[in-house]
Amino acid sequence: MRLIREPSVMQRLARRWQRQGIRVAFVPTMGYLHEGHLSLIRVARRHAGARGIVVVSIYVNPTQFGPREDFTRYPRDLQRDLNLCRSEGVNVVFAPDDEAMYPGLHQGRYSTYVVEEKLSAIMEGASRPGHFRGVTTIVAKLFHLVLPDVAVFGAKDWQQAAIIRRMVADLNFPVRIVVAPTVRESDGLAMSSRNTYLDPEERRQATVLFRALQYARQRVRQGPVPATQLRRAVARLVAAEPLARLDYVAFFDSETLEPVREVRAGTHMALAVFIGRTRLIDNARL
Ligand code: AMP
Repeated sequence: MRLIREPSVMQRLARRWQRQGIRVAFVPTMGYLHEGHLSLIRVARRHAGARGIVVVSIYVNPTQFGPREDFTRYPRDLQRDLNLCRSEGVNVVFAPDDEAMYPGLHQGRYSTYVVEEKLSAIMEGASRPGHFRGVTTIVAKLFHLVLPDVAVFGAKDWQQAAIIRRMVADLNFPVRIVVAPTVRESDGLAMSSRNTYLDPEERRQATVLFRALQYARQRVRQGPVPATQLRRAVARLVAAEPLARLDYVAFFDSETLEPVREVRAGTHMALAVFIGRTRLIDNARL
């Protein structure tokens, strides 16, 4: 396994693979890898084939964090991540630093961004202004450096995957986007690098996101429910946990992300909940 830190080195290697007709499957991450990430790596290997290349990027992207968010305290452990990647048979880990990815960012010299204007306005985008501008920008940059045939994203970040699909279609990236299922802890909590922020009591209450999804799924099994009514019920369920505060819950079409008035089996639900200071998200098709 090779560790690359320089964007120019990554791109030169990717161009060589392209000339040689080698398939490249790519998994972008912010590191502090868990089973969710590893499942994407396994999907990437299936798409690359035994003779193809799997590239994992590990980069905590500063432009997708708001000024009051957790960029500086986001967990990082490159050595541990490298060991996990090696044991999964990853070929290349690309782990650049901020100055390499965004020359002059903090001096105000970096000034080009990729902006998706529609899907980015709702849910996570409404709660975290500028977040998706950072995501689409870094993913576009990484695609230019890694030149993947396939890129694998997690269903855990459903809206993000939809926005990346939109960007790839709108900007003609020759990349196939694959979305892999959410990996959960045994009590249903979606795996996330941010779960490490939770103390034991917060960790217990954090299952409320999964319980809210399960509850909504049960409700719509019995027939359609008005979104306003289901939203109130979910808000009550979340409010029953003293450390939890609902940021939003949304009911929408899985593909278009268009909100629905009537929630039924097959409608998508997403929610964001603060557990103490930690903001967690989850989603599922009901
Ligand atoms: P992150 O490192 O949190 O930016 O995530 C990198 C990729 O892993 C994204 O495509 C996420 O959607 C995906 N991912 C994160 N957590 C999970 C999970 N629990 N199950 C599946 N994919 C995940």
